[in-house]
Amino acid sequence: MTHLIIKGGLYFDGKNSPQEGQAIIIMDNKVQEVMPVAQLPTETSAQIIDATGCTVLPGLIDCHVHITSSGEADSSGDRLEPDTLLALRGVHNGHILLESGFTTLRNMGSRNQIDIQIKRSMELGYVVGPRLITSGMCICMTGGHGWMGGREVDGADEARKGAREQLKAGVEVLKIMATGGVMTPGVEPGSAQLTIEEMRAAVEEAHKAGRKTATHAQGTTGIKNAILAGLDSIEHGIFLDDEAVQMMLDHDVALVPTLAAPHHIVQGGLASGIPAYAVEKANRVFASHKESFKKALKAGVTIAFGTDCGTPLNKPGQNALEFQLMVEAGMTPLQALTAATSTAAQVCDRPNIGSLTPGKLADAIVVRGNVFSDVCLLQDQANISYVIKDGQIVVSR
Ligand SMILES: [Zn+2]
Repeated sequence: MTHLIIKGGLYFDGKNSPQEGQAIIIMDNKVQEVMPVAQLPTETSAQIIDATGCTVLPGLIDCHVHITSSGEADSSGDRLEPDTLLALRGVHNGHILLESGFTTLRNMGSRNQIDIQIKRSMELGYVVGPRLITSGMCICMTGGHGWMGGREVDGADEARKGAREQLKAGVEVLKIMATGGVMTPGVEPGSAQLTIEEMRAAVEEAHKAGRKTATHAQGTTGIKNAILAGLDSIEHGIFLDDEAVQMMLDHDVALVPTLAAPHHIVQGGLASGIPAYAVEKANRVFASHKESFKKALKAGVTIAFGTDCGTPLNKPGQNALEFQLMVEAGMTPLQALTAATSTAAQVCDRPNIGSLTPGKLADAIVVRGNVFSDVCLLQDQANISYVIKDGQIVVSR
């Protein structure tokens, strides 16, 4: 039975230029049909959402979040918090993100695979939340970026074992640390960490299990190592040179830029209470990060939306700022919105979401105003009048 019709407004299918005057027919949890409003039957028992004056788009997908992180200026105390608190915080954050229009989150690293339990609690119906794509513990070198919540490995055999452990626990994407980063004290964003051989072993295990891989990669050598090791997406990609960009094109590797992460640290600065090591490193990489994004965009690298939500002052619910940053750095609104819908679905290996076309899962949002003329509208939750997940209205305001 048809049970929901979203009628009128500006309709975006997740890829093509938006159109006026369309109606989306949702049956059970799927989009059944998209047709001109004029062709709708005059009588229907379906619930009707009148989207006049609104934009209708696929539920947003954030390919890079840290769902158990608070986004406080200084979250260094988190490592002392018990898993139970982090799990409850993850549920809380998931709910906030759903309320702000994000129906799918790819979680990029989680101590003790807490994200898998959060996902289970959602699937069991204990709590309401977005679709969660889990990565469990990130694979890093001993003392490398992310070691505090990661699986430290040294040598290809151990990397293979670490990867197998995550796959055994049920992760859907494997997160691998190719370089140092901003948020771990004592490591350098520009320096390579896991070797090609170590990463290749982990990637091989993930791919054998039919899972994608994502790598935290900031420095140029580490980015190239990751591409040669077969990684599927480069997260952050701060120091991209022309050769790295060409390699990404040749190997069909996507970029998840997370412009919001250094943005918040640089804006907040020391005065906000962010640890000095993070402020110093973020200031140092800020300009290169934007340049790399522009370079990748110009070259036609696949770019998917990700925020690194949970890093300092990068609080859950503010994720839509990334749209503004992407547009300021040269994307059109259509490109930025595609990055968070059909392209994100492709990078997350979830072809059944990210598009509002017949046969896809019915994840959709209705936003007051025209987000193609002002992507900042997405930043105010009050503008998100409906969030629909799996054909069900989960938020209406
Ligand atoms: Zn991250």
